[in-house]
Amino acid sequence: MFYLSTRGYNGQQKFCDILLEGLAPDGGLYLPATYPQINAQLLQRLREIFHTKGYAHLAFEILSLYIDDIPTEDLLLICRKTYTAEVFGDPLITPLRKIDGELHILALSNGPTLAFKDMAMQLLGNLFEYELKRRGEQLNILGATSGDTGSAAEYAMRGKQGVQVFMTSPHGRMSRFQQAQMFSLMDDNIFNIAVNGVFDDCQDIVKAVSQDLAFKKKYKIGTVNSINWARLLAQVVYYFAGYFQATTENSQSVSFSVPSGNFGNVCAGHVARMMGLPVSQLVVATNENDVLDEFFESGSYKIRDSANTFETSSPSMDISKASNFERFIYDFLKQDSARTADLFHQQLSNKGAFNLSTEPDFANLKSRYGFVSGKSTHEDRLRTIRRMYSSYGQVVDPHTADGLKVALEHMNPGEPMIVLETALPVKFADTIMQAIEQMPQVPHKFKDLESLPLRFEVMPPDLGQVKKFIESHCNS
Ligand SMILES: *Cc1c(COP(=O)(O)O)cnc(C)c1O
Repeated sequence: MFYLSTRGYNGQQKFCDILLEGLAPDGGLYLPATYPQINAQLLQRLREIFHTKGYAHLAFEILSLYIDDIPTEDLLLICRKTYTAEVFGDPLITPLRKIDGELHILALSNGPTLAFKDMAMQLLGNLFEYELKRRGEQLNILGATSGDTGSAAEYAMRGKQGVQVFMTSPHGRMSRFQQAQMFSLMDDNIFNIAVNGVFDDCQDIVKAVSQDLAFKKKYKIGTVNSINWARLLAQVVYYFAGYFQATTENSQSVSFSVPSGNFGNVCAGHVARMMGLPVSQLVVATNENDVLDEFFESGSYKIRDSANTFETSSPSMDISKASNFERFIYDFLKQDSARTADLFHQQLSNKGAFNLSTEPDFANLKSRYGFVSGKSTHEDRLRTIRRMYSSYGQVVDPHTADGLKVALEHMNPGEPMIVLETALPVKFADTIMQAIEQMPQVPHKFKDLESLPLRFEVMPPDLGQVKKFIESHCNS
């Protein structure tokens, strides 16, 4: 299996070649040359493997379709080491729970940092360690986070050989829980940099370092952002696991509702569907930052500036543009990389927008690709959290509430609707308090979190100082 860029670059690269890279050299995103097809026989075999051998083996089978440059035994070991009941809190790894009738929630947030990003990041940590060791190389990961990504990356990379993490975050702007989760890590290979500024300042620093090619090369700087193909691939697995739990036979179809920001999670659903998983709808649920809903409703994709990117109570979906969206558009344009490059490079840089409403396929978005969408506001979140609590005794986090709200607008009679639970409520206690006037439950392993000692470096939003810090602490 070779990987190529949505903008046309084709360097005949294999999975491990692109594993440690970010964007392709032409600025596009990597995709496999084709999506392996799951026929009826293979789907049945995967169902049996999931039920008899469990999630790790299912992951191994699906990953094997895309990875042919890691020996089979090694890949199986990596999957088994990653997806354990101990790390994910349940032998099913992503257990499905029925809410009412056909409405279900797929629990993806029982990993180390209580958000679905662990599902992919834990695998990435083990793949990185494996590949760096094989090459005898080191990697220094530099990232920017407003909360979930940074902690998932740190918990995945802590104690790993050959990897160090330098994570910038806006000082004092994460939730108390998120801050304690990250800053209480005492591992030698984890460095938290609290920048006196906002998230965009952190992201600007990361971008500036990435553009300094000499520095990047000398200090072996890498990233773990959501455009990484391995992260997306890891997420494909739970769409299968959710399907196998919600159905008893492969003639049935299901819908998924996905709280969306950067389009990484739902893009994995798109990949699963392109492989042949019987998914009728992929419901893209956004919050007030509704660039994606606007596209699926109107065909117009208009990215926002920071003044028009709102701070909401589902903060992990507060995006101005959806960084994985280019992958879907490339498929939508029938793998036309020249047009994809024109849209994402020329039109977005020049006009900040493009419009595909006159494409012949736009009217068929739902029938061909399953995509439908909707949006949820702060009031909707509060209402949904209250209703889930009063009717079913369940407390859901604000992002999952966005997914539920939009899911209910797209139910097909007789067909399971699976809402992806992207975080646990304890991460967003203030909003839960506002909705139901009680504090969310704190999982046992985090009971004492907020009283642990913290270790972090405070810095002004200054590129020079961040670089100096990396220079003096880095493996090279
Ligand atoms: C990252 C995140 C999302 C958005 O996922 P994308 O892959 O960026 O669409 C939604 N909810 C939570 C809790 C997250 O951490």
